[in-house]
Amino acid sequence: MRKAVPLRHQFVDTIPDHLEPAVLYISLRYRTAVHLCPTGCGEEVVTPLAPNDWTLTFDGTVSLRPSVGNWGLACRSHYWITGDEIEWARTWSREEVAWSREGRPAPAAANNSGWLWRLVPRVRGWLSTRHRDR
Ligand SMILES: [Zn+2]
Repeated sequence: MRKAVPLRHQFVDTIPDHLEPAVLYISLRYRTAVHLCPTGCGEEVVTPLAPNDWTLTFDGTVSLRPSVGNWGLACRSHYWITGDEIEWARTWSREEVAWSREGRPAPAAANNSGWLWRLVPRVRGWLSTRHRDR
């Protein structure tokens, strides 16, 4: 079992272009949290905050539910974000991932090949547009 990794949370108005490792950026305005994959693979992981996506809990520390499963990334990392820490979870088999996509109870997947990933440049576009308007 890999050790839990500290994760600093940072509330931001807009998601910065350059992300620091081990920081969870949270934009309440855009109902989105973004962080770099804690494996160090350099991929951005986008977790929209919505009833059917992720729930963010703030008690001075930040937790996200359900777990984050990066099945679309080469590293296929799977972890929980709990109390400003990354807690590693078991990597799912391809069958388990397929089951969860069929709607069986399972952690949500942050899939960079799906619509979540395509949303990133779009959100960035909104952000820069809004920024210029000010
Ligand atoms: Zn990774």
